[in-house]
Amino acid sequence: MKMIHTLYIVTIFTFLTVAPSAVSAAGFDWPLERITDRIYAIYGPFDLPDPENRGFRNTVVIVLTTAGVVLFDPGGSAWAGERIVEKIKSLTDEPVVAVFNSHAHGDHWLGNEGVRNSYPSAVIYGHPNMKAKAEGAYGKRWRELINRVTEGKAGGKKIVAPDKTVNNGDVITVAETKFRIYHTGPAHTDNDIAIEVVGEDALFTGDIVRNRFLGMMEEDASFKGNISAIDFMLEKEFGHYIPAHGLAGGADILIEYRAYLVTLRDTVKELYDDGVADFEMKPAVVKALGDYQEWPGFDIRVGPHISRVYLEIEAEEF
Ligand SMILES: [Zn+2]
Repeated sequence: MKMIHTLYIVTIFTFLTVAPSAVSAAGFDWPLERITDRIYAIYGPFDLPDPENRGFRNTVVIVLTTAGVVLFDPGGSAWAGERIVEKIKSLTDEPVVAVFNSHAHGDHWLGNEGVRNSYPSAVIYGHPNMKAKAEGAYGKRWRELINRVTEGKAGGKKIVAPDKTVNNGDVITVAETKFRIYHTGPAHTDNDIAIEVVGEDALFTGDIVRNRFLGMMEEDASFKGNISAIDFMLEKEFGHYIPAHGLAGGADILIEYRAYLVTLRDTVKELYDDGVADFEMKPAVVKALGDYQEWPGFDIRVGPHISRVYLEIEAEEF
């Protein structure tokens, strides 16, 4: 199973064409964007990791507290983590004191290493399953993959996994700021956390939500759980939702991504009930998903998404 999984990742990252990146090979040209007075984001490109972006392709969140900076998802390479630290230094003289990793996909946490190079005492948090994966063979495979597809430009030398684990309902306090953790079960992965910045009316959704972008869903994903997690987030009625890929905004981002997941699941279920095999149903499902075909990632992800939803529905029938 592990072999199959590795081949899958290598295949999707190696053999598919990549859109031109917005950055020069040496530069990190993505700006800091203000979300609230205390929350900033850096929006990475939707491209797969490549020698130009050097593994940076996610939305990084920077929260200012009176005790220092708290970071969510510091990029997908040591290089990205170091460049993000430089950006933060243009915003504040305060050190990075804490980092949260939303889940175990390496494009969200391999930047821990770059942050640690400047701030050795920053405390890194993640879900227990995320910490275990990052410390094990899974984390090593991600580091090797990113180093390979960036042609050695990611700068990664070692794994820096979370120091501490957090789970649903935990609250981490940094000076006057509280960070409340949500985990509603398997969704995008079995180790997602969403993070509320209490008092700022803001929620970082991790990859449970992407803004007009489709990405990988592996064997620990639950499409049904992902929909439920989005419903949970919508009920909380935050003013600012910050996805882990794409721009921050209002509830409409969640509603739109939820609609993709529901249309996908409902269409596959209908065809499954009619006795159509997974490899036969792709044209009909793609047609039903017509509203989403312009989203980056659609062409390469929709096939694997159909296969995984099919397996999920098949498992539910027993
Ligand atoms: Zn992910």
